[in-house]
Amino acid sequence: MARLLKIAKLTAKNPQLAAYKARITVRNGFTAKYDYYLRKGYASAPGCICIKLTNACNLRCKMCGQPREGHKEGDAKYAPVEFFQQTVSVDDYKAMVDEVQRYKPNIYLWGGEPFMYKDIIELIGHIKRRGMTAQVNTNGLYTRKYAKEIVEAGLDDIIVSIDGPPEVHDSVRGLKGTFNMLEKGIQALHEEKKRQGKKKPIIRVRGTVSPYNFEHIYSLIDISKRFGADSLNFNWTWFFTKETGVAYQRLMKKLFDIDAVSWVPYQEDVIMNDERRRQFEGIRRELLRIKNNGADIPITMSPNINPDQVEAYYTDIHETFGNDRCFSVWVKSYVLPNGDVTPCPDYPDFIAGNILQDKFMDIWNGEKYIKWRLELKKRKLFPSCYRCCDLFLSDVAVV
Ligand code: SF4
Ligand code: SF4
Repeated sequence: MARLLKIAKLTAKNPQLAAYKARITVRNGFTAKYDYYLRKGYASAPGCICIKLTNACNLRCKMCGQPREGHKEGDAKYAPVEFFQQTVSVDDYKAMVDEVQRYKPNIYLWGGEPFMYKDIIELIGHIKRRGMTAQVNTNGLYTRKYAKEIVEAGLDDIIVSIDGPPEVHDSVRGLKGTFNMLEKGIQALHEEKKRQGKKKPIIRVRGTVSPYNFEHIYSLIDISKRFGADSLNFNWTWFFTKETGVAYQRLMKKLFDIDAVSWVPYQEDVIMNDERRRQFEGIRRELLRIKNNGADIPITMSPNINPDQVEAYYTDIHETFGNDRCFSVWVKSYVLPNGDVTPCPDYPDFIAGNILQDKFMDIWNGEKYIKWRLELKKRKLFPSCYRCCDLFLSDVAVV
């Protein structure tokens, strides 16, 4: 009952977003499965389109798996400077939004740091004028600067990443003062909402459980409450082992003739030692406290791992906690900062088309996308899937 009350409070703040959440639950649970089993690779219109506005970021977080500025050629996280400069004009994004408007997908904006895309506010305003929901996932450093415009544009949902108390957060983020800036940004949002008489955007805190903050994840409950956040979501880190990375690369070459190297910066082979045991025990303890919390904000976790499964999450990559098929590529799609369209969030090696050359919906059910879906279905999972956030789409639990 307490959980239902928490969700009801959130629904009242943004009914349009709540309606989308209800729609996407049905989409993930039923329509995606109908398409998956019966439509030979075709998918109903997407429930969510995620636009990666830029590869550039103003931070260098320790747990970030993306290629990042400042690395030298030969480093796992190296990418040439042009990668960070890729950009699609706001008019091209608007054209895509207009094209998909009738299907009302949620539009999720991320990066890199999405507020480094200069026309983000204009794009949010356009999405809202077309009657769709818009979400942004940000590190929060620009929130103070854009607070007024964010609220005016009608953004539905802002997801800010926090790793723990100030010193932990700053250390994970690699820059002193980031917690403080983030806090000021959220305060500014609250003030603007009040000043403009608006309930949106919903403010969510997202905490990523990593070896760098494992002793402090419970503290995110108090921090979220202190920040006046509407909900708290825990994610796990996404990774490959060398074995799954090499297997993935080989398979992509064989099936699609592509050189799939996106896994390299995500490689993490856990060697059990005393420090690792201490980390896993620490996470287990924090998780137990979180699961027994009496907090009055909704807390979600994806995947929904039991405290006793923490070690398995890191050491047994083939354990997928009951999620043995990916339905996400029948529901969600990703547009990269150069306009390429890909089915997978963090490992964007397979490109199904480009919105600067083709209509999005022609790509979505085009020959390439269908081939990807059918090859995936044949195998249930690719080696890239075991620790991919989208494998656990339906495994988001309110704890
Ligand atoms: S803010 Fe996000 S994209 Fe930027 S370095 Fe940190 S984790 Fe990576
Ligand atoms: S689970 Fe696999 S197929 Fe699905 S989005 Fe992730 S990497 Fe792609």
